[in-house]
Amino acid sequence: MDERQRNKLTFELKKFIFEYSSKTITRASLGWIYALSFDRDFLINNFECKETNKNNKIKNIKNFKKKKSKLNFDPFRQLQSLNTLREQWKYMKEINLIRNFGVLEDSFKSETDETALKLARKFISSNKQLNILVIGAGCCGLFFSNNLKKKLGKLVNILVCDNRIQESGVREPYSRNWLTNLPKNLFNNKVNKSVTNVFDYFSDGKHIGVTLNMMEILLLQSCKKNRVKFFFRDDPYDDLIKESCIDFVVDATGGKLYKYYPNHNEKNISLKIPLNQNKDDYLSFVLREKNNYHYPFFQGKQVINYQFKIVGIAERLYPLITQYIKENNHDNIFYVWLGKLIKKLNEVLIIVNIKEKDIEKFYCLLKKRICIEEFEQFDKRLKSEIDNRIVELIKIILKVKTKKDKIYLEPPFSYKPRIKLFNKDLPKYYDKIIIPIGDSYYIGNAKVGNGLGMHLVHIDELTQTITKCIN
Ligand SMILES: Cc1cc2nc3c(=O)[nH]c(=O)nc-3n(C[C@H](O)[C@H](O)[C@H](O)COP(=O)(O)OP(=O)(O)OC[C@H]3O[C@@H](n4cnc5c(N)ncnc54)[C@H](O)[C@@H]3O)c2cc1C
Repeated sequence: MDERQRNKLTFELKKFIFEYSSKTITRASLGWIYALSFDRDFLINNFECKETNKNNKIKNIKNFKKKKSKLNFDPFRQLQSLNTLREQWKYMKEINLIRNFGVLEDSFKSETDETALKLARKFISSNKQLNILVIGAGCCGLFFSNNLKKKLGKLVNILVCDNRIQESGVREPYSRNWLTNLPKNLFNNKVNKSVTNVFDYFSDGKHIGVTLNMMEILLLQSCKKNRVKFFFRDDPYDDLIKESCIDFVVDATGGKLYKYYPNHNEKNISLKIPLNQNKDDYLSFVLREKNNYHYPFFQGKQVINYQFKIVGIAERLYPLITQYIKENNHDNIFYVWLGKLIKKLNEVLIIVNIKEKDIEKFYCLLKKRICIEEFEQFDKRLKSEIDNRIVELIKIILKVKTKKDKIYLEPPFSYKPRIKLFNKDLPKYYDKIIIPIGDSYYIGNAKVGNGLGMHLVHIDELTQTITKCIN
């Protein structure tokens, strides 16, 4: 890459971000409008619950099966060698459950931290190639890396860092076994065929239905095969970035780099979002800045609500469950989503809205993920205080499930949307431009295209912009 190409790239990236900002607001606002339309009875009055379970959650993972597994070989080859779909599915679950060192190791595992840092820095210091540091090896960072590497091949060096580690050089297992519901075309020709082939084993043909952690582990392996390098250390990476030859940094941390973003000049921005193509009907939001992100407010109230998930419900239970829900869902307390896996494996996901008065109770009841059976043993008084429909639904599930069904209640979470808006210039980490993607750019609503679908579209558009400057 010569100087002219580097300048062009900086110019085009800036243009891309600013030209796309109104499109991005429109995409982000789909989630806000959904919440105002369907979850309005559960929007709360600016109440911020202390999510005390967060630390426990991290500790739980760290104490989790320390055993080194034998599954150190190429997962794609291993999957091909298995005879039945059940075996393949079991294998995919195991990769994520066991602290699988081989699969979760970075590219410098055998080196000391000091040497690893030197080698990683050298890797992204080429004069000839484009050098990109991606911070965050979650689904968006991995999708970006796969996609760009597929487009540019040897012309780009990509180093992906993550600080969620079990030890130096080894990432924690990917733990979010949430169903996805993404159209297949979001991945076709954007990631290697080995990945989409595996999606095809398990999904209904038109969609990708595997769980989020399966998707992440596949994208990680595919990146490794394509010579994307990984650096898993518990370090803020300053030494990597300072005085390096990195062309730009991609922030795929889900919003954790907010300190590096400058404040916006405008603390309160009024925004009208049209509800139809004629633009004669609209909703007025005010975007208020906090911690360098803007949060949407509607009629003076922040758009925010709390929910929890019931996961692992086999598809055969769907008719019975939906029958109860249909009759008891006037306010949309329940959101039911039938997965997109093939029938044998398919599951139902239920997202339950929590009333403001019950939020603390749910944080207390669901400190960590629990088997649905444990709900029965909860304090009767506490149960009598929460919405009875939740208790009733759980009773029905317990009645119809068999011992084989492993159904879980997950800790509560909030949908607290925010978006990164820029002033005149792009933000910088030291002197390197930062491009946010995924939840670092804006938080999507899990009930609208999975929250993730629009992120993947945006990431593909970004990789096309970069590719045009290099080719
Ligand atoms: C509560 C909730 C429920 C959802 N439910 C579903 C669902 O059921 N199904 C579904 O498909 N989608 C769901 N989504 C959407 C989905 O989780 C997000 O769209 C997606 O995770 C965003 O991906 P990301 O890569 O931007 O961020 P993340 O997936 O959060 O990845 C961020 C990565 O960055 C790393 N990181 C963080 N800080 C640093 C740092 N300082 N240095 C280095 N690395 C760092 C993290 O370890 C992580 O690997 C849900 C989202 C939320 C918030």
